[in-house]
Amino acid sequence: MGIEKLSVASMLAGIREAAVITCLDGNIIHYNNQMKRRLPNIDNAKIITEVFSLASKTFNVSCFKEFSSIVKRRSGLFPIRLKFNDTRLNDTSTIPAYVSVLKDAENNEPAALIYKLDEHIVRFNNRLRQLQDAKRAHAKIAREAKLKASMDSLTGLKNRRFVQSFLEMQWKAYTSKGEDTVLIIFDIDFFKQINDTYGHAAGDEAIKAFGKCLHSQTRPSDVVSRWGGEEFVVVLANCSSTQARLYLERVMTSIRQLRIKYKNVVNEQTLISMTASAGYCPFSQASSVQEAFSQADRALYEAKSEGRDQYRRACPDIAMSELTSAFPNSRSQLLN
Ligand code: GH3
Ligand code: MG
Ligand code: MG
Repeated sequence: MGIEKLSVASMLAGIREAAVITCLDGNIIHYNNQMKRRLPNIDNAKIITEVFSLASKTFNVSCFKEFSSIVKRRSGLFPIRLKFNDTRLNDTSTIPAYVSVLKDAENNEPAALIYKLDEHIVRFNNRLRQLQDAKRAHAKIAREAKLKASMDSLTGLKNRRFVQSFLEMQWKAYTSKGEDTVLIIFDIDFFKQINDTYGHAAGDEAIKAFGKCLHSQTRPSDVVSRWGGEEFVVVLANCSSTQARLYLERVMTSIRQLRIKYKNVVNEQTLISMTASAGYCPFSQASSVQEAFSQADRALYEAKSEGRDQYRRACPDIAMSELTSAFPNSRSQLLN
C-alpha cells in the first residue's frame, strides 16, 4: 500500500466533513468520526460499495473499477452523489460529495481515493427546502384568504365585493374593446314564504340550491354571485342581448324544475319548489356600471310587478329620478 495508515488518520482528523479513504479498488482504509456518526455500519464494511452506491450524471458508476480508473486520471475534486445502502437510515435521498485522488509521496502515482460528504450543501438544501415549504404554505394561506374574501360563505359563490370589482373590470373591457357584457339581477319570488313555511334552515338550503342551479347553467368565464339575501347577480362577459335571453330562458326553466328535499322537524320529507324573477341590462345601453345596475334593478321590479317568474330587459328611456323614487334603497345607491 502506497499510503500509510498513520498519515491517513492525521489527514482525516483535519477534515471537517464526514470523510473516508479507500484504496483504488474500493477497500476501506480509514474514516473519520463524522463519517462514523453519519454511517454507523461503516465499522462492518470492507469495501466502500457496501456502505453507499455511487451515482453520477456524467457517467455510469455501477462498476467501481470503471469509476476508479476515471477518477484517478483526474486531478482536483470530482463531484459525485452517494446513496446510503443502510436501509435502517431511512434516507432515500442522494448526498452530494466529492472524490479526489491521494498520490504516493515517493512516485507521485495515484494511491488512494478520499470521499468527502458535502454536508454543507445538504444542510443548505434542507434549509432551502424548509424555506420553500414555508413559502408555499404562506402562499396557500394567502390564496385561501383571498378566495374567502371574495366568496359568499353560504353558497360558495362569489360575493358582492368580488362582483363589484369584476363589473368595473368588464366595464373597462367594454369601453376599450367594445365587448358587450350583460348584467343580470335575480331575486327569488316570495322567498319570505319559504322561510315562514319551512323554517330558516330550509330557506338556507333553497338559497344554496338556487346558487348551484345558476352556477351549473353559467359558463366558467362568467360570474355568478350572491348579492345578499335571496338576490343574485350574474355577469355574462362578451355576450349579446340575444345570447342573454337564451341563457335566461334556460335558467328560468331549470329554476322552475328545482325540487329541494328538506326534512322538517318531525322528519317528514318535503319538496320545496320556487321561481325567480330577473332584470337584465347590456352595458351597451348604459353609460356606467352604476347605471347598468339601476336599469337591471328597475327591470327586475317590472318583472316582479307583472306577476313574477319572468325576466325583463331594461328600458333605457325611464329617467333615473323615477327609479330612485320607486326604490329609495335601490342597489344603484348601494353601489355609489
Ligand atoms: P319578492 O317576490 O317580492 O322578492 O318577495 P320575497 O319574499 O322574496 O322578498 P322579501 O324581501 O319580502 O323577503 C326576503 C326574505 O329573505 C326576508 C329575509 O328574512 C330572507 N333572507 C335574507 N337572507 C336570508 C338568508 O341568508 N337565509 C334565509 N333563510 N333567509 C334569508
Ligand atoms: Mg329581495
Ligand atoms: Mg325575493
